[in-house]
Amino acid sequence: MEITLTGRDGGGNERIPMCGVPYHSAQSYIEKLIQKGYKVAICEQVEDPSVAKGVVKREVVRVITPGTIIEENMLVEQENNFLLVITETEGSYALVASDLSTGECHLTEINHSLDFLLDEISTYAPKEVVLDQHLFHQQQLVQSLKMRIKAVVTPFSLENLDEEVLQQQFSRYTQICTTQVRKQGLALLYAYLKQTQKRSLGHLHRLQYYDAKQFMMLDDVARRNLELTLTLGEGKKRGSLLWMLDRTATAMGSRLLKKWLDKPLLSIPEIQQRQDIVAAFLEDFLFLEEMHDLLKQVYDLERLATRIAYGSANARDLNAVKRSLQVIPSLKELLKSSSCQHLQKIEKWLDDCHDICELIGQAIVDEPPITTKEGGIIREGFHQKLDEIREIQKNGKNWIAQLEQKERAATGIKSLKIGYNRVFGYYIEVTKSNLRNIPEGRYIRKQTLANAERFITPELKEKEQLILNASEKSVELEYDLFVQVRNHISREVQRIQSVAEWVASLDVLHAFAKVAKTYRYVRPIVHQQDHLLIEAGRHPVVEAVSEESSFVANDVKLNAQDRQILLITGPNMAGKSTYMRQVALITILAQIGSFVPADHAEIALVDRIFTRIGAADDLVGGRSTFMVEMVETCHALKEATPRSLILLDEVGRGTSTYDGMALAHAIVEYIHHHVQAKTLFSTHYHELTRLEEELTRVFNVHAECREEDGKVVFLHRIVPGGADRSYGIHVAELAGLPKEVTHRAREILQELESGQAEVAATSLAASSTTLLQKPEGTQLTLFDYLSQDEVKKIEENPKSSAEQEVLEA
Ligand code: ADP
Repeated sequence: MEITLTGRDGGGNERIPMCGVPYHSAQSYIEKLIQKGYKVAICEQVEDPSVAKGVVKREVVRVITPGTIIEENMLVEQENNFLLVITETEGSYALVASDLSTGECHLTEINHSLDFLLDEISTYAPKEVVLDQHLFHQQQLVQSLKMRIKAVVTPFSLENLDEEVLQQQFSRYTQICTTQVRKQGLALLYAYLKQTQKRSLGHLHRLQYYDAKQFMMLDDVARRNLELTLTLGEGKKRGSLLWMLDRTATAMGSRLLKKWLDKPLLSIPEIQQRQDIVAAFLEDFLFLEEMHDLLKQVYDLERLATRIAYGSANARDLNAVKRSLQVIPSLKELLKSSSCQHLQKIEKWLDDCHDICELIGQAIVDEPPITTKEGGIIREGFHQKLDEIREIQKNGKNWIAQLEQKERAATGIKSLKIGYNRVFGYYIEVTKSNLRNIPEGRYIRKQTLANAERFITPELKEKEQLILNASEKSVELEYDLFVQVRNHISREVQRIQSVAEWVASLDVLHAFAKVAKTYRYVRPIVHQQDHLLIEAGRHPVVEAVSEESSFVANDVKLNAQDRQILLITGPNMAGKSTYMRQVALITILAQIGSFVPADHAEIALVDRIFTRIGAADDLVGGRSTFMVEMVETCHALKEATPRSLILLDEVGRGTSTYDGMALAHAIVEYIHHHVQAKTLFSTHYHELTRLEEELTRVFNVHAECREEDGKVVFLHRIVPGGADRSYGIHVAELAGLPKEVTHRAREILQELESGQAEVAATSLAASSTTLLQKPEGTQLTLFDYLSQDEVKKIEENPKSSAEQEVLEA
């Protein structure tokens, strides 16, 4: 922390070492500690020091952990901050993901599959995972959480699961908590939050159960390879699909968009509903613009609602809520004007929270200070007593002067005066000669001087009290009133959260419309049949960053009859992986309800996308490129269904040519015979193109190139048929390899092509036969291609259950 250590004399031999930071700069130190993976206990005085006897009592009032941050400046606006809780009973896992800062909470149950659980965990990118103590011994799980998910793992256990307490706590979730493991998951979450947050978490009520199978499964490999939210190279948002799509106007919309991207839908009616709304937005450009202008004025209601519920919102936060809610009537008007029935329904459901707006408007001044304890918050006319106090404060002296006049008139004593001293406070002074003019019982005698008497009245004393304490009192009362208002709204927080949800959805859909408009997207037809047809499809991100109309559109046609597997050949740099990725991205866009970059698209619902793209060494995990390649391929072969989409990019290139070719060949066969998933398989082994003749559902396409003056020109057009040559040397020339090298390479190539063609073909056939003869398919065989070293590494440190199974086999 770079804090200087000092010391203080404590009377003993040694000085007492001390260090600290000023209270007002604690926040940035808390942030540093949390980023380093620590937890921070906040300890405060819990007694009023002015009335406490002896040492003022202190308590830990909250423990901030990486997964329980609600502080605005420690959170990224466009991202959720999920805390995950995981428990297990008899092979079933419960996963609870809650974001304290937004008040949302998602629960799911996963049966018997650690891989599936890890994939699901990774979609939340949690900062902290609370693991049921008994799972802490599952090395593989803990290792994956730390290495792959990179989360802080906190072991935690419930002393005992008190059924009765559970019953009470979760009575409103009985429909959700139908199994023991779900109850246990929720109980664990609540216990952990209770222990760390030490307050009521009334805002954390948006508990939703979902079945992970309701959504398209995208594991972290697929999300990374497809650059859905971050780019592969630098891991930045810029350049990702999320970045391209994110035309949202609010932080809530931005976060929701990311959630939608992580969980594309499998329900056609739901997809169509989103499409209908996007279509409605697109019909009227002015409508879209107006929507944008309104949404822009809405603050982050989700996080504001949380701060209100937490009691940490200040007056400015309340005003932000008011200003946001004030937009809702106009938003409702706009929605009403649309002919889209979904928008009309949303209009009806949208609560403009008029009462909340009004309360804040009446109570809080327009420009309140940041602090809540120094006054200046409450509007005049909101509270009579406060107004009185302020009046006294302002007009204290006036009032005294008026009283003096009043008393002179009442007693007829012209020399009567009101004075003040520290000891007696305010007093009425009457000279001795006038004493007899004072009516009986009007004043109370307080002090006698040589030639005058001093008196008080209960009214004067009351006012005096008020005047003297007015300033202090008004500050106190303002705070009380502010807290009352905040507490009142805190009971209505669910309504604000509901507005936030609708605003976020409208925001994302309006962003889809904006993107569709900018890049001329079309509404895809999503269906349950088995064909996929994309006419003039484009890669959404490459297109967006390319110069105007320089991107070459391509068609894609896949079906279960004769085009299950597209074998894509062509040289490096010709556009193969861009083409493959664009098919996956268009499918994802279609299933999140967006329009797609194409002239026409018919998309068969995909339950899962598997990718094996690009060469990435998993150095931290101790796996070579080839190992990673095989593990990812293995994953696809084992888990894919006929409804899945598999992208395999140059599988086999990590090993020797024959090995690689044989493997590629065997994998295509296996997918064709057993997996039946729609597959895009790119390879630069153009020898594989003859598979089209052997296997009925394999179809050859290639990325077209032309040779001009001995140089290769990439056309980026994907056309039927296999490539006849790989142009590797041409690409090497383009890259600027020395002439001697490329020249010599040409000579060697010629030698090889004349002499070795036969040998290659025979060897390929031979190796693929042995592969296919092994029982239980390909996964088993993949390990034959690992070096001793690699096998040893996995044995010492198995990473996934897929690897472990292969190992056992
Ligand atoms: P390959 O996988 O065949 O090696 P890539 O798909 O990586 O080739 O594409 C190489 C480059 O060509 C990419 O950087 C991309 O910008 C460009 N490219 C690919 N497809 C197209 C296309 N359809 N239109 C325009 N440029 C493209």
